[in-house]
Amino acid sequence: VLQVEGVRKAFGDHVVLDGVDLRVDSHRCVVLVGASGSGKSTLLRVVDLLEDVDDGVVRLEGQDVTDPRVDADAIRARMGMVFQAYNLFPHMRVLDNVTLAPRLVHGVGREEAEERALAVLDRVGLRARAHAFPDQLSGGQQQRVAIARCLVTSPRLLLLDEVTSALDPELVGEVLDLLVELKAEGTTMLVATHEMGFARRVADEVCFLHAGRVHEQGPPQQVLDDPRDPRTRDFLRRLV
Ligand code: ATP
Ligand code: MG
Repeated sequence: VLQVEGVRKAFGDHVVLDGVDLRVDSHRCVVLVGASGSGKSTLLRVVDLLEDVDDGVVRLEGQDVTDPRVDADAIRARMGMVFQAYNLFPHMRVLDNVTLAPRLVHGVGREEAEERALAVLDRVGLRARAHAFPDQLSGGQQQRVAIARCLVTSPRLLLLDEVTSALDPELVGEVLDLLVELKAEGTTMLVATHEMGFARRVADEVCFLHAGRVHEQGPPQQVLDDPRDPRTRDFLRRLV
């Protein structure tokens, strides 16, 4: 689904991505780990075409999306991105938040959009709250709505950036459980997280990023439990 090849990105003279290679195959979940500032969010933003690259190629379903001639909105419509802060529209009910993209971006009629929205809200366990406003929901519920808002357009790839780090600890579990379910249903995901337990549970592959480079990648048991690169070992040691 996704191939990242030799991607470089600098902000001024600060090189943030220094030749990143990565692929996410269909139905796979790849988890990015690494210290704060290692480039995880920047990499996700590059994939979602929120940042352009200085060098290298990003392919989505074989198409080079870094080509300046591509229609970025059309490409972005094939992906879903969820951020740390759930940024729902506060003045819109849950249902309207979820139907917005299908209606505006995908040109789906109101009735069908609502039907689809209710189906995904059901999937995230929030169908009963469809008519609530975001501030009437807990942080975990809001984040599940943000995920529903992505799922409603059936994205080929879900990008998740620290989706639990703004949540109170007791709300983290419900969001991670939802992601575990999505993974079980075959959703293709690229996830940045500091939750190593989650990485162990869902990752097919863990990628360790350090100073803008992938230093180690492989199954979670290998990267997290038996790291080969001294930088990975050092990173994991600091967590405990
Ligand atoms: P965290 O775990 O804290 O979320 P991260 O791995 O996601 O960190 P990034 O947010 O990708 O790291 O940031 C990588 C580096 O790029 C940081 O040093 C950051 O300061 C820098 N950076 C990110 N965005 C910009 C920007 N728009 N302008 C300048 N520097 C930036
Ligand atoms: Mg980040």
